[in-house]
Amino acid sequence: MIGCDCEVCTSANPKDKRLRSSIMVQTKYTTVVVDTTPDFRYQMLRLGVKNVDAIIFTHPHKDHIAGLDDVRAFNFHTKKPMEVYANYLTEEALRRDFYYAFSDTKYPGIPEININTISNEPFTINDLIIEPILVWHLKMPVLGFRFGPFTYITDANRIEDDEKEKVKGSKAMVVNTLRKKEHISHYNLDEAVALVQELQVPNAYFTHISHQLGLHDAIENELPTGIHLSYDGLMLEF
Ligand SMILES: [Zn+2]
Ligand SMILES: [Zn+2]
Repeated sequence: MIGCDCEVCTSANPKDKRLRSSIMVQTKYTTVVVDTTPDFRYQMLRLGVKNVDAIIFTHPHKDHIAGLDDVRAFNFHTKKPMEVYANYLTEEALRRDFYYAFSDTKYPGIPEININTISNEPFTINDLIIEPILVWHLKMPVLGFRFGPFTYITDANRIEDDEKEKVKGSKAMVVNTLRKKEHISHYNLDEAVALVQELQVPNAYFTHISHQLGLHDAIENELPTGIHLSYDGLMLEF
């Protein structure tokens, strides 16, 4: 956090250095990124990502969409618009916040974006089958996504029972955990642990972690078997 000198913000452990939450999902034929955070450009540079087939959005909060402008580097290489998958709520925000990319008179160098509006129904991108999971971020509907054995949920603090069913049977899940203290729109540590145990997913990784949660190594030691804190650069294979 800017201007903070707490033990997490000043920690020398790379696992305590957290950019905003995002994931990249890859199959042999397809690469998608979930959310373009304000750190999207650096995240792509750091990993040396050469190609992204599509961006999928969870919800329209700024920390999840702000980096979209930087897809123009991919436009430059592919000479094609970036395919974007977003629900109507997020689409509205994208059209408002990145109005210049959608105007009739475009100037050179702006991002080229093609929005595919999604709902709560499964959709496919090449060989990737994606099942949205509706979760609640206080009163905002947010989309989690199941990719076969793997489920990604961020920015939630409540999931209805029928949507929870969609997560069951996953080999691994990611879920947001902000801190130990309760929060109005994010799961805290106890709530996230309880959710994973209720859904009986054997491997879970917490994300969207605030500096208020504590040091990575200390919290990792407190977690039940199979539950971990994620960290920037973590890779999972299925
Ligand atoms: Zn949010
Ligand atoms: Zn967020």
